[in-house]
Amino acid sequence: MSKNRKKRNRRRRPRRLTPDEEVAEREVAFAAIRRVYAESSPLWRFCRSGHCRRHKLCGSGDVRPCLSRTWPLVSEKLQDEAYRQVIAGGPATHMEWQLREFPPTNFVR
Ligand SMILES: [Zn+2]
Repeated sequence: MSKNRKKRNRRRRPRRLTPDEEVAEREVAFAAIRRVYAESSPLWRFCRSGHCRRHKLCGSGDVRPCLSRTWPLVSEKLQDEAYRQVIAGGPATHMEWQLREFPPTNFVR
């Protein structure tokens, strides 16, 4: 059953990530992008967490709860600015670069 497959796999080509590796890498990239969103927009102004408002920064640990709760309250203009900053943002893994171009709605849930 796997004879053909084995032969095919022996062909030389760049190594691809296994599905599991890809999921893991994607999760890391998403977390990094969420962090950039949290740092690029004044989420803390709208956040109900006193800690965030005091320190003027959302997500000292995991940004996700803050981001998904607070993003809809941020004005469209500020959302747009954050999106631009994410795209222009600093160093990133290749996957993160690719993912950054997707609209914010992908990351804020
Ligand atoms: Zn917060």
